[in-house]
Amino acid sequence: MDNLLSGLDKLGLNLNDFHNVYEEVPEPKKEEVKEEEKKAPAVNEEEMIFEKTLSCPVCGKQFKTKVVRTGKAKLIGTDTDLKPIYAGFEPLKYDIIVCLHCGYAATSKAFGHITPGQVKLIRETISSGFKGLTNSSGIYTFQEAIERHKLALANVMAMRGKNSERAYICLKMAWLYRSMLSGIPEDAEKLSGLRKECEEGENNCIRLAYEGFSTSYSKEIPPICGMDMNTITYLLADLARRCGDYENSKRYIAAIFNSRSVNSRLKERARELKELLDHEKSGKKS
Ligand SMILES: [Zn+2]
Repeated sequence: MDNLLSGLDKLGLNLNDFHNVYEEVPEPKKEEVKEEEKKAPAVNEEEMIFEKTLSCPVCGKQFKTKVVRTGKAKLIGTDTDLKPIYAGFEPLKYDIIVCLHCGYAATSKAFGHITPGQVKLIRETISSGFKGLTNSSGIYTFQEAIERHKLALANVMAMRGKNSERAYICLKMAWLYRSMLSGIPEDAEKLSGLRKECEEGENNCIRLAYEGFSTSYSKEIPPICGMDMNTITYLLADLARRCGDYENSKRYIAAIFNSRSVNSRLKERARELKELLDHEKSGKKS
């Protein structure tokens, strides 16, 4: 077209099809619209978080930690192992609180719930050798978030925490690896090493979570990590499936169907899981 609209490309507009002021502009090509729809909504992660000052129950010093602003994370679904799926960014990265002075680390729910005996154990086992952690400015990368989870797991182990507490952190680490993997383009050759690292990391953490929750299932009285009996049974059914332990997965699903107290939503989830399990089993046979 003539140069009447020239300069608008600087604003990001694509006006290639705008030929004449009084001519109908053709409809956008369908494929282009679809591509636009596929893109995750642009989210500025830095605006989603803020820094909060906390006091450490182990060393008594104050430190800063990053927290997701209330109501900022938009839940759009749940994976079969109950991993929440959020639009645009991963708030799970911010769930571990770490004291930068002494190395005490815990999930936001468990932070501060610690006995004097456990404080002593952490001082002796973790703080004595802790060289500090860089609290990077801005957002946490997945690698930083996974490192924080590893430190929290070391803390739970040091304070002789329950199997379920250990398993819960392993499960969350598996979820982080899965989230990180979902952000790596499948055709990016250069990133194939990172993809493999994510896949192996997730599988390893799922296996550990399954092992830990299986033991707590027989030894601990629900609620276990905030989950009632039916929810933990459902979670075990899916973790067993993910580990290829189909027989036990079937057993856990049957226990949900036989439970009198199960709600209809969880029963529906169990039904969907059974379909997935049957499908995978038949795939393995053929
Ligand atoms: Zn501390």
